[in-house]
Amino acid sequence: MLRTFTSVSKYIQGINQINNLSKYINIYGRKAGILISSEDKERFSEKIEKSLKDVDFDYIIFDIFPCENHLLLLSKKLVLSKIEIIVGIGGGRSLDSAKALAYYLNLPIIIIPTIASTDGACSSLVALYSNEGIFKKYLKLKSSPNIVLVDTQIILNAPKKFFIAGIGDAISTYFEGQVYIKGNTGKTSVLGRAVAKLCYETIINNYEGALKGFDFKESNEEFENLVEANILLSCIGFENTGLSLAHSISNGLTKFEEGRKFMHGELVAFGTLVQLKIEENKEFYKVHNLIKNLNLPDSFNFLSFTDIMKIDKLCDYILEETQVKKTFKNLEKETLLETFRYFIN
Ligand SMILES: [Zn+2]
Repeated sequence: MLRTFTSVSKYIQGINQINNLSKYINIYGRKAGILISSEDKERFSEKIEKSLKDVDFDYIIFDIFPCENHLLLLSKKLVLSKIEIIVGIGGGRSLDSAKALAYYLNLPIIIIPTIASTDGACSSLVALYSNEGIFKKYLKLKSSPNIVLVDTQIILNAPKKFFIAGIGDAISTYFEGQVYIKGNTGKTSVLGRAVAKLCYETIINNYEGALKGFDFKESNEEFENLVEANILLSCIGFENTGLSLAHSISNGLTKFEEGRKFMHGELVAFGTLVQLKIEENKEFYKVHNLIKNLNLPDSFNFLSFTDIMKIDKLCDYILEETQVKKTFKNLEKETLLETFRYFIN
C-alpha cells in the first residue's frame, strides 16, 4: 500500500504573531503582494503596515469569489510587478484567491487566516468559482502553503460564530477519515491517521476551556489548542485520510437556499451526526452532546429545512457525490431517508 503525507511547510500560531510578518516575508523575497479584501484592509491595515515598515509591498485588493478568469488576468498584470511572494490575509475566499494567484505566478505564499471557521488555510486545494459565485472546480496546488501564520489575537477578536463553525468542520475529520480508510486501500500514513484522531480528541478535551477564553477575549492553553485543531490538525487530518458522507451532506445542503444561510462548518457538523447515525457509531451520543453544547445544527428543524420533497431531493444530491460513492458504496436512498427521519423533530 502506498503511503503519502502532505502538510504545510511551516505553521506559526500565537498572540500578535502578525507583528513578525516581515521576518517571514524576507525568507522568500524582497517584495510582497498582500492579497486582501477592502473590508479586511480597513480592519487590518494598521497592523499590517506597522509590521511591514521595512518591507516593500503592494496591496492586491480582491473583493470577489476566487474566480479562475479574474485570477489569471490578475496574474498576467502582476508579472512585471517584481512581487516575489504572495501573502493572503482574510477568510476562505481571500485565502483561496491568494493561493491560486501564487500558483499561477509560481511564487511562494504565506497565509494569514483572520477567522478559524474552516481548515482551508493549510490546504493544498483551492475551490474556484464562476464570476457569479457558483462553484466550478478544485485547483490542486503543487504543494501546501509555505507558511501559515495564525495570530490568535485576531482570531479572538473575530465573531465567535466563525470559531464555532470551525469546530463543526473539524469534528468531521476523524470520522470521515476512518470511513474513507475502510473503503479505500490507497495512500494513507500512520501519521495522517494519528493527526485525524488527535484532532477529535483535542476538540473533546479543550472546547469548554477554549470557549471560556473566547468569551473573556483572553487566550488560554485550551483556546490555543482548539485553534490548532480547527486550522492545522483538521486540515492535515483530512488531507491525509479522506472525506466522506459528512461533507457530502454539507455539499448537498448548499444546493438549497436554506442550506446557504449556514456556514460550511455548521452544515458539516450536522452531516457528521447523520454519518455517525448511519454507521451506528458508538461515539454518536458523545458527538451529539458536543454539537448541542456548541449550538451547532443537530436537526432539520434547526436548519429550517423541513420540506419532505426537498429532503428527498437532498438524498439524490448526496448519493451523486463522489466521496459517498467511494466510501458508502452500498448506501441506498431508503436508508438515507430513514436516517433523515430521525433528524426531523
Ligand atoms: Zn470542510
